[in-house]
Amino acid sequence: ARAFPTPEGGTPMMVQFLELRAEAPLDALLFYRMGDFYELFFDDAVRASDALDIALTKRGEHQGEPVPMCGVPVHNAPVYLSRLIKAGFKVAVGEQMEDPAEAKKRGAKSVVKRGITRIVTPGTLTEDDLLEARAANRIAAIARLATGECALSWADVSDGEFASMRVGNDGLEAELAALNPSEVLCCDEDGKLASELAPHAVITPRARAKFDSGAGERRLKQRFNVQSLDGFGAFTKAELSALGALLDYLELSQAGAPARLRPPLSLPSGAAMVIDPAARMSLEIDRTLQGSRKGSLIDAIDRTLTAPGARLLADRLSRPSMNLAEIQDRLDAAHFFLENRALREQTRERLKAAGDPARCLSRLLLGRGGPRDLAQLSRALKEGEKLIAGFAKDPLNAPPAPINRALDALSLAQTPELARLVQETQQSLVAEPPLLARDGGFVAPGWTPALDEARGLRDESRRVVAGLQATYAQHSGISALKVKHNNVLGYFIEVSAKNADALMGDQAFIHRQTMANAVRFSTPELGELEAKIAQAGERALAMELEIFDAFRTRIEALDAPIRRAAEALAGLDVAAATAHWAEETGAERPQVDDSLAFDIEGGKHPVVERALERSGEGRFTPNGCHLNGAGGDHPRLMLVTGPNMAGKSTFLRQNALMAILAQAGLYVPAKSARIGLVDRLFSRVGAADDLSRGRSTFMAEMIETAAILNQAGPRALVILDEIGRGTATFDGLSIAWAAVEHLHAVNQSRALFATHYHELTRLADELEAAGNCSLKAKEWKGDLIFLHEVQKGPADRSYGVEVAKRAGLPQAAVKRATDILKRLESDDAPAAALADLPLFSSLAPEPESRPSASDERLKEIDPDSLTPREALDVLYALKALS
Ligand code: ADP
Repeated sequence: ARAFPTPEGGTPMMVQFLELRAEAPLDALLFYRMGDFYELFFDDAVRASDALDIALTKRGEHQGEPVPMCGVPVHNAPVYLSRLIKAGFKVAVGEQMEDPAEAKKRGAKSVVKRGITRIVTPGTLTEDDLLEARAANRIAAIARLATGECALSWADVSDGEFASMRVGNDGLEAELAALNPSEVLCCDEDGKLASELAPHAVITPRARAKFDSGAGERRLKQRFNVQSLDGFGAFTKAELSALGALLDYLELSQAGAPARLRPPLSLPSGAAMVIDPAARMSLEIDRTLQGSRKGSLIDAIDRTLTAPGARLLADRLSRPSMNLAEIQDRLDAAHFFLENRALREQTRERLKAAGDPARCLSRLLLGRGGPRDLAQLSRALKEGEKLIAGFAKDPLNAPPAPINRALDALSLAQTPELARLVQETQQSLVAEPPLLARDGGFVAPGWTPALDEARGLRDESRRVVAGLQATYAQHSGISALKVKHNNVLGYFIEVSAKNADALMGDQAFIHRQTMANAVRFSTPELGELEAKIAQAGERALAMELEIFDAFRTRIEALDAPIRRAAEALAGLDVAAATAHWAEETGAERPQVDDSLAFDIEGGKHPVVERALERSGEGRFTPNGCHLNGAGGDHPRLMLVTGPNMAGKSTFLRQNALMAILAQAGLYVPAKSARIGLVDRLFSRVGAADDLSRGRSTFMAEMIETAAILNQAGPRALVILDEIGRGTATFDGLSIAWAAVEHLHAVNQSRALFATHYHELTRLADELEAAGNCSLKAKEWKGDLIFLHEVQKGPADRSYGVEVAKRAGLPQAAVKRATDILKRLESDDAPAAALADLPLFSSLAPEPESRPSASDERLKEIDPDSLTPREALDVLYALKALS
């Protein structure tokens, strides 16, 4: 645990620091503002200097010990903040709360007042510098009541989202994975659980008292100024607990400027397809197993042009809908844009200019926004308005309802106040307004006469000052005389040392300063002008700030229509981007209904296809998939066989992605697709190690398989790849066998089950709703060729020996394996078949069988720990050795 000394015996500044330190949460570093620097002391300094790789110095002593210190310049603080936040730290910002001149007035020793203005945490960021533009930044809270009732709440401070959902204990992990929060609150006792449930988030444990549901309800009512929360929805006790704890924390972290949140929304459970975390990871929906966006599904299909559009798309993919009307709406909108290419291009052109109004709005409402946010916001609204005109009222080609709704939300005519606001901001702001209001200079000339006048006075006085230089030069006869300005002296006259004498005797000039080469003077006249300029400047600045504040207040009142417009822009972006992607790749509109169908014709894996295209390795072979099809002649559970590297995992994954894309309301990479709503998607693909949790590969696989067999129902889609691999053959085969039977008889889910156990394919004959398909491979001139084509029926054999041969197994071993295989295949009792097989060692070793380089390499390989990609690499390496 971190400890700081007591203030006793400290300098006044140190006493103040330690008091602030005691006030700030212990898990946050304290940035203590001193002039142009944020300084850190004691343990904060040690940690920050280490994390930022900056010098650790000392500043005086406290209680007889040197005080460790480090600091970062204020103007560069966002860079350092972002590095600290990325490294998992939180930062409390202690600002100066008064002008240092004020403190001086109280006495030479008195310290500038300071207070904590904000606690920067991963989940409560608003700055563009610190946020990823194309991803939501959520903070979530987990509430688990003594009654066993559970709920999640979450917020995105950067755009005002605020919501909760009741979940079962076993649903927490999946829902958290869908939300992908950067920070998770939980009560003290749940800290360990939370870090298991959300391994990528920073965990912030809070006292249990913060999760009191009664207090939460009161807090919410007060915050949203309502007598009852019923108007927002029906919240369970657990939801109130989660929402209340989250609100409490947001108020703490945004000290003074509470985050502007929309009223809480209670999301019904069952509104979205549940995707278990293992599936989410292995399907690489929004990031690859290595954690990058590149190579993920979203990277392959995202054609949005705005950051809010990208965030909305990511949201839809992470929570595919269960609502048919919603899915149809989204597809209708995309379809319309696919049919109307010119309009789509025009719309996209406008969207590009719209920027990120939601985040501008949140910054403005939080008091952290500046004139640039104001300008961007009003430009976005204006572009939205202009966009409407393109959708001319053509009765033969009217836009579908979802697009009309978006256009309504963008119509400024419906909210005259908003229209006025947009017009006035556009007229009043300069073309390139500064980021911050602080220094003024953003209100355009001609907007208010009073401001123009103050600026005129200021500029006029400056001109007079400039004119004085000539007057003084003439008066003194010193042509090199200069009028200059600095912050200490204000306006002054400067002459070289050798000319100074001429002025020294002159009554009109007051000596101020003698430098090495120059001497400086002032005059009463200059002093007066200085005061006038300063006064006029201050007045002008005050007026500008007033104008800015007035806009801000108006925006606050127009919060709701602005948000609606921002959401409409994001929605149009996603719809147009979907159409764009569909046109580019030939993706088709899926048919989604409430049947139990799963009928894909000519399906492709968008990521693998793109990788093949880019590497020039060849074309993707489209494959259909029919489970429980309309005609009823298709199996519900399909066993997929074929040699390694034939394309089994790709086939499994592409079908899981098909369901996600369709229910996200997007087009699918297939010739046609009919999908009956999938309520849960389970996938166990590849042997992803789970060592971080201390589980062996086999254990992890069994835990996931157990979860599937326990939870999957008839609406689920189950993708299982080679289960039972991590154990002895007979164990593995028995487990896989039992899992297939269970899925078939009990779960009755639509399922694809890839296996390398050939014996399993017999099950298709026995189980009424099970079938076989396989990936074609053929031998050609002694080589094994993968056709990546799915055909009916089981693979004729596994080609394991051929693959081994390709891998460079010594000829003698290959021959021997072929012999053994023949024996095994010809007999029902494998063990008995081997009984009279002469031992390898008794055969005369062939000369070439001494260990070769490839032998040595082979010995080092542990096939179970290889990814398919690594296996391929190894193959190439072995080939090179032979
Ligand atoms: P398996 O699971 O059978 O070992 P994978 O699905 O991992 O095989 O596929 C191996 C490689 O084959 C992939 O990386 C990909 O490059 C290629 N591949 C898979 N499916 C196809 C396909 N339908 N068309 C073209 N290439 C494919």
